[in-house]
Order: sequence, then structure tokens, then C-alpha cells
Amino acid sequence: MTKRTETPILPLRFGGYPEDHPSLSELGEVPLGGPDPVLVSRPLTVLPGVGEKFAAMAFEAGVETVGDLLWRVPRAYGQRPGISLLGDLEPGEPVGVEVRIVRSRKVRTRRRRFSLVEARVADDSGSRKAVWFNQPWMADRLTADSHWYLEGRLEKGGFVVSASEPVQGSAAEAGSGEGIRWQSREASPPGLSMETPRASHSSGGEIGPGRWRRWAFEACRLADRLPEPLPSALLTSRRLPLLADAFREAHFPTGEEGTAIALRRLAYQELLENQARMRGRRKRHREGAGPAIPLDRASRLAADWRSGLPFSLTGDQSHAIGEIGAELAGDEPMGRLLMGEVGSGKTVVAVNAMLEAVGSGAQAAMMAPTEVLASQHFATLSGLLEGSGVVVALLTGSTSAEERKDLLERLAAGEIGILVGTHALLEDPVRFGRLGLAVIDEEHRFGVRQRAGLDGKAPPGHSAHLLHMSATPIPRTLALTAYGDLDVTTLREIPAGRAPVSTEVVSAAGRAEAFERLKAELDRGRQAFVVCPLVDESPMVEGRAAAAEAERLAGAELAGYEVGLLHGQMKPAQKEVAMQAFTDGRTDVLVATTVIEVGIDVPNATVMVIEGAERFGLSQLHQLRGRIGRGSHGGTCFLFSESGGARAARRLAALASTTDGFRLAELDLEMRGEGEITGTRQHGLPRFRVASLPRDVDLLEAARVDLERLSEQDLELLS
Ligand code: ADP
Ligand code: MG
Repeated sequence: MTKRTETPILPLRFGGYPEDHPSLSELGEVPLGGPDPVLVSRPLTVLPGVGEKFAAMAFEAGVETVGDLLWRVPRAYGQRPGISLLGDLEPGEPVGVEVRIVRSRKVRTRRRRFSLVEARVADDSGSRKAVWFNQPWMADRLTADSHWYLEGRLEKGGFVVSASEPVQGSAAEAGSGEGIRWQSREASPPGLSMETPRASHSSGGEIGPGRWRRWAFEACRLADRLPEPLPSALLTSRRLPLLADAFREAHFPTGEEGTAIALRRLAYQELLENQARMRGRRKRHREGAGPAIPLDRASRLAADWRSGLPFSLTGDQSHAIGEIGAELAGDEPMGRLLMGEVGSGKTVVAVNAMLEAVGSGAQAAMMAPTEVLASQHFATLSGLLEGSGVVVALLTGSTSAEERKDLLERLAAGEIGILVGTHALLEDPVRFGRLGLAVIDEEHRFGVRQRAGLDGKAPPGHSAHLLHMSATPIPRTLALTAYGDLDVTTLREIPAGRAPVSTEVVSAAGRAEAFERLKAELDRGRQAFVVCPLVDESPMVEGRAAAAEAERLAGAELAGYEVGLLHGQMKPAQKEVAMQAFTDGRTDVLVATTVIEVGIDVPNATVMVIEGAERFGLSQLHQLRGRIGRGSHGGTCFLFSESGGARAARRLAALASTTDGFRLAELDLEMRGEGEITGTRQHGLPRFRVASLPRDVDLLEAARVDLERLSEQDLELLS
């Protein structure tokens, strides 16, 4: 807390400091209705002023309960600017004004690209036009003669408003710095003093910031009825405030330091809850239905298969095989994630594990998220296991009814050693005689329930060992939040004998030479990609830019070569044609957007040019360049970068210096933060409301330590 004022602004109450700070109930005037253990799950309509209609609108914005509302903390905090007179305004500087609305209107804009509300506003010094961009909800609220505090800046078209707040009663009262008057039943959202930090509630759905703020205020008035989920010893040792106080301080800050502490408390709780969930999942799996089927140590099946491989294992592969083998030999069911980039040799490790199971008279399953992947796995496994005597079968949604019937019978009878497939494996009629190990590929694409689904297919009284595989390198901290329930094995080493891809950063001056080198490769019969820059939030513009670039290149740098085009806005059939032409070698160069990131496998492609490389994330660039050097020819990736400062240059230099996807994912996280990691969603990472990594990595570590000290009862409160 930075300052105290005459009026009782509620202090943050730390677990260990109740005697230093008067508690709310000592203040005695809070409209408490007693503790309400389920307050967080009550609908918004329990709040005064929130009816069904608004609750439905909030629902659209992802806010359904009082808890959702409380956890929707302001997006930004800042100092409120001083109040200026309309007559004194100069263009440019952000200022606050207190005005009366003379009249207002919604302006029809052409093509409805944005919405516009205009008002004539006045104070003692004169009047001006004020405009609100993209805040359509303001239209109904700016009634004539209502008083408003507006923040914004004077521009050519008028006073452009960025934030508006109704002023209750007289202007003088609202600006008098009284702080937050929680104790008054009639309290309205506080007018903020000049000195208090200002929290900006963001708009959401069709609801404007002002309304969110009012609702947050009502919810905060109820916050003392929330049970405190964290034990007070923990709060004391971590110096964290009570939950109710943290919510109030986060929504209606009294000082910078207090707000920071409040936000940390909320972030800590989120991370603790996340880790508690992970631990619960792990425990359920470990304790599950019973022990795993023990390995037959005498079986030579896996070892013999390994010795027949045409290559020697990488160090990481040997290590992984040892680690997994030891766990399979125990009776505690394994729950492990095998992470390694495409080509790092995960399949070999997984096949070995499946053979260990099969050698012990158990069966193994391998589940992939799509039919294409499942069929690929089936083909790979069939090839790898040829002559081993192990029966491998494939089950997907397109398996014919007849084939399926036969397959299910043989599966139940234990004749099939390894069953590969899609979600179809999870269906009820699929019964294994003796399932010992389930391998789940690209596990983030499956929900938690599906993950657990295969577990239930083990024989009664037994649990299955689970091995998850992921080709997406994610940094350890993020792995803990998403896969904290699993042990992690990482394959970082790329098998020997693969020709490396070199990466070069090219400035404007080097463009021509890079294209000469590209053409020299084309002349040797190789092919190339040109990746167009990311265009913010508009795949359509991006597609158009790619088309224009393809046309330009075909008439300039690449005149005389066949240039193809591939972008996300093309119809599936068109994409298919473009990909096929490139695969068949009929086009020399494929100009594309990031759609090539996934799935394209053309070993003859050896050069990639990435335009505007500074706009991409490191992990994304790494994924992109993974499209070349897939054959025996090696490859070169040119990162064209013409703008961007020293930071951008450092990032690209990092990319050029290493091919280790894990290192790059970590760097990306350090430099850009979690929200920016490409495809956070895609990677199945949890989304936090307040916590953010790597910023809060210390809180994550703290939460992990603390979790061990919490009792079962404590944990229950958290869930
Ligand atoms: P991942 O599943 O991680 O993408 P794979 O297991 O499919 O990788 O391996 C990719 C390719 O590398 C396969 O053709 C595989 O036979 C080969 N491979 C695997 N391990 C090695 C190794 N230690 N040395 C050489 N080649 C290997
Ligand atoms: Mg693979």
C-alpha cells in the first residue's frame, strides 16, 4: 500500500496481519449476508442491475458467473490525467475533461467498418464536438444533460474519447478523492481521485467498459462472502493478501504496490489450482484401477528388434528407451510425455516400448488424432515390424463393418499385438484382451477425457501404461502447466546422417544475391519456397499479398521459372492442385503464406526465403524452415529482414545459430511472452486469466513447492 487517506479505503489483509489492519467486519458497515461458499458459481443476475438480458450478453463475452466477473480483472492500470477545460485543450496530449452532454447522435458510417458516436459537450469554458469510435454502447448512455468524465485527446475531427465515466451528482463530489466507499449500500462505482491509479476495464462482447466496471463494483461488494481458499499460514509465508481484498484491489486499485500484490495473489492462486489439477490427474492415473501388467524381463522381442535396426540409436533415444523400460517393468502405471521434433526418432522409441509390452504377452495401442496420421503410423509400424511376427492392425472411422467385426474379435482374443487407430479406438465395443500400453500421438489434440479413455481399456483390476508423444517443443515452464501430471522425456538430438539446413539473415542489400543462389539451386533441379510476410489478423489481405507477390516474382527475380501459389484463402481443391504441382516438380517455386507450416513434405525442396522474417515468432520460423532439408540435399533458409530494430536482429541471429527447437521455444517465450507463442491454443496450453508466463515463473515454482505442503482438505477448497 502506498498511501492511506482519511476515508477508510480497505486495506489489503495479509494472512498474517489481521491485527495490523482492521478487517472489513471491524469496519462494520459492509452489507454482508454471511459467508457464501458458492458465490463464485452464482449467476450474474444475483448482482443488482444485472437482468437476464445483460446476463445473456455477458455470457456471450465468456462471463457467466460472479466468479468469472471477479476474475475478469482490468486489462490495464494507469494514472488518471488531470482535468482540463475544454477551452484550453491543445491537440495531442491525453487529458481528462468533465462535461455535460448537450446532444448526441449515432453517425452512420459507410460500409460499417467502424461505428461512430458524436456528441456536443460543454463545460464552463465552452463547448466542443466529442467522438467515440467503436463504442456503440455509448449512444444510448449519452443522454442530454448527463455529466461525464471523459478521457481522450483533441484531434482534427474533435475530442476523441478513449474512456468515459458517468459523473454522479455534482462534478465536484465525483472528483473529490474520496476513494472507494464499500460500506455504503447505495454505493455507486467510485469516482476516482486524481492520485488513485485507474483501472481500465475492457469492453467485452456488446458490453462497454463502464458497465463491466459497475458490475465488478457490485461483485466486489460481495467479495467478503467468498470463502478464503488458501490456508492463512500459506498467505503469511508468501505475503499474499486475502482473496476478497485481492479482487477489490485489482478492480479498484488504491495504490500501485497494492495492485501489484493483489494481481500476484490472483496469479498465484491460478497457478496453484492448475498444479493441483495436474497432481490430481496424476494421482488418479497412478492409483487408477490397479497395477499395470508387469513386464516379462526375459522377453527378447524388443532387444532383438533394436539390434536389427539399420542405424544406431541416438544418445537421447537410448536414454529414453532405458527410462521407459524401467518404468514399464514396475507395477505403477506410467504416465509419460515423449517430446521431440519431427524426425527426432520418437516412433522408434514408441515401437520399442510397444514391443516390450507385446513381448510380455500384453497388447499395445497407438492412437493418432487424424485418419491420415493413423494410416501413416500403421504403414511405418508395419514396415518396422516386418518379420517380427507381431500382428499390427488399423482401426479408423473408415474401417468397413465387416473388417471391423473380424478385427474386434481378434483383438479381444489377443491375436492382435498392436492396434493403431483414431478416436475409433475409444469406442465401447473396442475391447482388448490384455492392453498393457497405450501410446497417444500429438496428445494435445485430444481432450483430457479422451486421454483417459484408453486407460479404461486395460483388463479389470489393471491400469495401462500411457505414453504420450508430442512433436511441438514447448519450454519446461509451459510444459509444467499443461503436462504437470506427466513425466517428461525429451529427444533433442537429431539422428546423424541428416544433411543440415543453414540459416542466413539477409538485409535489403543481400536480396539479389540470395535470389541468385536460389536460382542456382533450381538449375540443379531443386525446388524452393518463398514465404510471404504475416499480415495482421487478415488472412484475406495476406492471401491477396501472396498472390501479388507470386505474380511479381514470376515477372522479375524468378522470370523463366514456374511459380506456384498457395494460401489459406484458396479453395481446398485449388490448394490440392497447387500442392500436387509442387510435389510433382511441375512448379519450381511455391509462393505461400504460413499454410505450408504443416504437412508439406517435398524432399526436393532445398531453399526457403522468408519475407518480413522479423514479424514471425521464433518457433514459427523454426517450424517453417523444417519444410526444407527433408531429403539428403541439405538446405538453406534465407530470412529477409528489412525493418525491425536490434531486438528483431537478435532474435533472427538466435534462429540462425541453432537448430534446437526447444532452445528456440524457450527464447521465444523469454522474448515475447506466453500469449505470443504461436498457436498457444494449438499446443493445448491452458489459458490463464491473470497469470502469465514466463513473467510469473517464480509463482509457478512457489505453487509447486506449496502444493506438497497442502493437506487433502486444503486441496479440496482449491478445486
Ligand atoms: P519422429 O516420430 O520423431 O518424427 P521417426 O521415429 O519417424 O521420428 O524418425 C524419423 C526417421 O528417422 C525415420 O525414417 C526413422 O527410421 C529414422 N531414424 C530414427 N532414429 C534414427 C537414428 N538413430 N539414426 C538414423 N535414423 C533414424
Ligand atoms: Mg513421427
